[in-house]
Amino acid sequence: MKTVKSFCRMCASACGTVLTLDDNNKLVKVRPDEDNPMSNGYLCYKGLYADEVQNSPDRLMHTVKRMADGSYQRIDSEQALDEIADKMRALIAEHGRDSIALYKGGHSYLTATAMIMLPMFREALGTNSYYSTATIDQSAKFVAVERLGAWGAGKNPLEESEVVMLVGTNPLVAHSSPGLLTTDPVKTLKRERARGLKMIVIDPRRSECAAFADIFLQPWPGEDATVVSGLIRIILSEGWEDKAFVAEHVKDGGMERLWQAVEHFTPDYVARRAGIDAADLFRAAQMFAESSTGAVFSGTGPSMAPHANLNEHLIENLNVICGRFRHAGERIHDIPILLPERPVYAQVIPPVRGFAMVPPSRIRGAGQLWGEKMTSTLPDEILTPGEGQVRCLFNAGGNPASSFPDQLKTVKALKSLDLLVSLQAFMDTTARLADYVFAVKLQYERADIPMYMFDMSYYPKSWSQYTPEIIPPPEGADLVDDWYVFWGLAKRLGLQLAFGDQPLDMETAPTTDELLQIRCRGSVVPLDELKKYPEGKVFDLEQYVQPAQPEATGKFDVMPDDVYAELLQVAGEPFRQEVLAQGGFTHQLQVRRVREINNSSAMWIKAVEKRMPYNWAAMHPDDLAAMNLAADERVTIRSEHGSIPAHVRPDDSIRPGVVSMTHNWGGLPDEAEGSAEPGSNVNLLISTEQHVEPINAMVRMTAIPISITRMD
Ligand code: SF4
Repeated sequence: MKTVKSFCRMCASACGTVLTLDDNNKLVKVRPDEDNPMSNGYLCYKGLYADEVQNSPDRLMHTVKRMADGSYQRIDSEQALDEIADKMRALIAEHGRDSIALYKGGHSYLTATAMIMLPMFREALGTNSYYSTATIDQSAKFVAVERLGAWGAGKNPLEESEVVMLVGTNPLVAHSSPGLLTTDPVKTLKRERARGLKMIVIDPRRSECAAFADIFLQPWPGEDATVVSGLIRIILSEGWEDKAFVAEHVKDGGMERLWQAVEHFTPDYVARRAGIDAADLFRAAQMFAESSTGAVFSGTGPSMAPHANLNEHLIENLNVICGRFRHAGERIHDIPILLPERPVYAQVIPPVRGFAMVPPSRIRGAGQLWGEKMTSTLPDEILTPGEGQVRCLFNAGGNPASSFPDQLKTVKALKSLDLLVSLQAFMDTTARLADYVFAVKLQYERADIPMYMFDMSYYPKSWSQYTPEIIPPPEGADLVDDWYVFWGLAKRLGLQLAFGDQPLDMETAPTTDELLQIRCRGSVVPLDELKKYPEGKVFDLEQYVQPAQPEATGKFDVMPDDVYAELLQVAGEPFRQEVLAQGGFTHQLQVRRVREINNSSAMWIKAVEKRMPYNWAAMHPDDLAAMNLAADERVTIRSEHGSIPAHVRPDDSIRPGVVSMTHNWGGLPDEAEGSAEPGSNVNLLISTEQHVEPINAMVRMTAIPISITRMD
């Protein structure tokens, strides 16, 4: 037996682990690393049971190819690459490069080498058909940056704040909000509360974070814009905004326009519309605005709700009008140490509306955000004939068949492809539709560093960690690195790849460690230095926010015309009860995260299956009593788009009239037919053609009107 240190890569938290391996290098135990200076001995359920994933008999140990009868047979991975490259050549010759689409899933985000290799392959291939998970649940945040602007030095960090406001985010469960309780969340929050941090939580469910809050507002689902407009209105009417900050950094006339936009949202109106107490709303506005530091953070809730882009714009406006950003001279404690040093300026990154600079998509006129097409349009890009039709999809570590809205359409689209290639460790729902499935290495089989996104550190300290490959591939296995699939294809297609700015040798494959070295070239802390600390290290580095550059003229655009028009539209929309009655519905479905899984991953853990055998529909006990339903009884949930079976569970953390379920659950629709196990994928209830946001084609994925009937 031996023990080795590493870190978990089942989500972005990168919790430190101590692995116990037997003499055959079999992983027999995972325990938290008490010495890890970032996670401090924290490990969630998923990380603790990673040995089950590692040793699962269901795991793919070699590449498989779908045969004519639908069965899968083993194929050598090099042979598979040859065949796929041949098919790609033919598709490109006949239909052009955009017929090849790439999708970056969660596994790719959590694998440093794959994270870089996929966009490099895209660039070399020259396809515009590039998608990722980012536009399933978070694209409204990008839209907000593009229309409002952003602050170059970031928001007030939690650890230096007097107050924090959480809107539709629950980091104690989600674990994935950059810089916000990313690691060791419970102890960190308790410590910050003991220090005196004030906390406001706004969530349709009395979340785990709400238990720590000074003020908790529980609005009806889908009322984010209403509640935040109400907060802004109170702050402005009381004169609590940071007048010096807005005078310097908000576009001329912006504050007047903002007031006009929110004027309708009086406390009384917001209270009636959102179902909250007007006095609580006032107290929340006062606590936030009268604190000297502390920002608002949102999660996927407002980004998946109706008026997603508006919600995120208004939420960030709260930070702008209260000036809740790091200012010049403040020390930066979360330096991304594995990137080159870059100065951080206290200035506005101006709104550029980049989405309007590319031709709108042929599907619902969607724009592009930061070089990516909108994922909700991908099934239609596959199904719709014409120029640019997608005929081949590489699914790099995602699970579109489970995670995309409108599961029926998605599955139909995936089945219609000329070529579907999936990179996965298990035969998940998407893999079961694929022509080829590459068996990729699991976390402890690959060298790695923690996740970075948009040159930003996810972690609240100047910390990082390196892990070598710890578990060698089992004898006889044909496991591949995610990045290798794309290097291997590029080689066969005669493409020159550049990793970062360094051209790669296209004759001899690099090693993962060599790629990591290239990735970290010129970094603040050399990778070789970091390797000396097996549990990672917080480096005591001094960097301070710089004053604005003389040429910086950017201003926040707090209320551009399109945002203004949408907020007026919200003010004219009927209240919830009227909407439900008009459609013949009785409840709203609120979608949430659960600790047991991370999107659709971790479902392979038997202990997870035992804890959460199905995606139950949590309902308030009063609702269950009114419908004469007992715990675990089966119901049918209907939306205007579709229906799913589900088991009910009593849960008084949600309001009567609301049903709460998690997303990405279950198998393929035909596999789950007529059963609540393992079915109940809420994406069957979601349309990609109704309730679609402009710009990012984001669809309504929560706050969905539904009805519930007992299943006989
Ligand atoms: S899944 Fe995330 S929170 Fe859980 S142990 Fe792994 S890294 Fe930590």
